[in-house]
Amino acid sequence: MPIGRDDVIAWLSAYSQLLADNREYLTQLDSSIGDADHGVNMDRGFKAVLGKLPTVADKDIGTILKSVGMTLVQTVGGASGPLYGTFFLQAGAATANKMELSLADWSVAVEGAINGLMARGKANVGDKTMVDALVPALHALKQAIADGIDDHEALRQSVAAAEQGMKNTIPLVAKKGRASYLAERSAGHQDPGATSSYLMFKAMMDAWTK
Ligand code: ADP
Ligand code: MG
Ligand code: MG
Repeated sequence: MPIGRDDVIAWLSAYSQLLADNREYLTQLDSSIGDADHGVNMDRGFKAVLGKLPTVADKDIGTILKSVGMTLVQTVGGASGPLYGTFFLQAGAATANKMELSLADWSVAVEGAINGLMARGKANVGDKTMVDALVPALHALKQAIADGIDDHEALRQSVAAAEQGMKNTIPLVAKKGRASYLAERSAGHQDPGATSSYLMFKAMMDAWTK
């Protein structure tokens, strides 16, 4: 399954729609352990991304993803803006000048993107952040590719791991971000960023397994 520019754009469009659909839900999750703006932040950022896409749609995948990263840094703000911004800037750096990728190429780009995000935010798995959905999703994707599983099934396994990682944040005590100010009181709530990261992988599966 080659991943072309149109597929990348279909993924970004699907994610933007999922964020719009889940805007209240994400904001409600953030109202329990943060400042009730995560859905608003992400929806604003990806509406801006959608607006920019036509200006880069005829460029290589790296240029498209870098433009997404810059737009997010400029429009999302808070903790999640620079973090998702770094994710897309790094994904763009790993796919510079590419018009088409294999799923294995894509997993390498996602790994670089997650490593960049983790270097920026200094969160590890278990700190109750987006990292708790992203890292399991990446590991499942890489494992499925290594096992020779077909691309559609590999994407499904990756999303299932992201969803499990998202749910696993519920009992955790937050170690990073605003939720960490609540210390023990952050336990019992699902992390909003882990939820938007799960939706990012869900959008990938929805767009690429059609
Ligand atoms: P803010 O907390 O500034 O209002 P958002 O509400 O948009 O920003 O995003 C909050 C999410 O950001 C959290 O749910 C968490 O997943 C993520 N987050 C916060 N700090 C970090 C960090 N250092 N590393 C990774 N993710 C983080
Ligand atoms: Mg917030
Ligand atoms: Mg905020």
